[in-house]
Amino acid sequence: MRWPLPRLCGVLLVGAGLVAAGAGMSGQTSSSGWKLVVLGVAQDGGMPHLRCTEPPCSEVRAGHRPAEKVSSIGLINRDSSAAYLFDATPDFREQVHALTGGRVPDGIFLTHAHIGHYTGLLYLGKESIAAREAPVYATRRMADYLSANGPWSLLVKDRHIVLNVIEPDRPTVLAGGVRVTAMTVPHREEFTDTVGYLIEGPRRKALFIPDIDQWDRWDRSIRELADRVDLALLDGTFGSPQDAGARDMSQIPHPLISTTRERLKGTRAALWFIHVNHRNTERDRAADLAREGMEFEM
Ligand SMILES: [Zn+2]
Ligand SMILES: [Zn+2]
Repeated sequence: MRWPLPRLCGVLLVGAGLVAAGAGMSGQTSSSGWKLVVLGVAQDGGMPHLRCTEPPCSEVRAGHRPAEKVSSIGLINRDSSAAYLFDATPDFREQVHALTGGRVPDGIFLTHAHIGHYTGLLYLGKESIAAREAPVYATRRMADYLSANGPWSLLVKDRHIVLNVIEPDRPTVLAGGVRVTAMTVPHREEFTDTVGYLIEGPRRKALFIPDIDQWDRWDRSIRELADRVDLALLDGTFGSPQDAGARDMSQIPHPLISTTRERLKGTRAALWFIHVNHRNTERDRAADLAREGMEFEM
């Protein structure tokens, strides 16, 4: 079986991954050293998904296609090796290995407290590597939640992680001048608020919004934002209303891929969908679903 490979002007195929080459997206020839790497594409529960007996889950179990790690991206400078991770997923170990070779990233930016987005923090604790003061960036509510509730509170108390509270809409300036700005988005708030990120590299800007209830419930225009960036990695949970299966979609709202495509038709940003549900019917036919290993010069 073959999977459709994403097509993007200037994309080079490198091994199993993709490199959106420096010359490809804007005509520049030299590199900034920074690249954004897709480390996982699946929704929180991963793919294959528990209790899923149909394709694509059954194809993974039969060894006919690769499993998909949970949605996450990394930012790495190939000259200085500075590295930042966006979301700490249940696949945290493999994703950190892929990003840094196993070294704890210089910063971990969290979006919210759902299983696919922060539970990987546990690998920084005593039972694993007992990290020393790994910098974690989170909103006030997310930071308070981690500080107040076990097992996360032990990571804080024993200083395996250090919480850096980020104010939405205020950029955090990282090594090398990269700017990261959190934007609050509407999403089920059982424990914390939720943010997406604007990542501004020396050459290019990217949006990372893996989870949002609906674009219309947001006080910002995704269209205006996408028109200001080069790359948009957006919530691709569902392709059609049937993709939720027996689950009530009103309880797990997400913009449909087709809705987002329509809204962003002709935008300046290269659009890629991430955070893809295991039942998403677009998986094997869409050319704009992100793939693990894709790289974009920043
Ligand atoms: Zn999620
Ligand atoms: Zn969520």
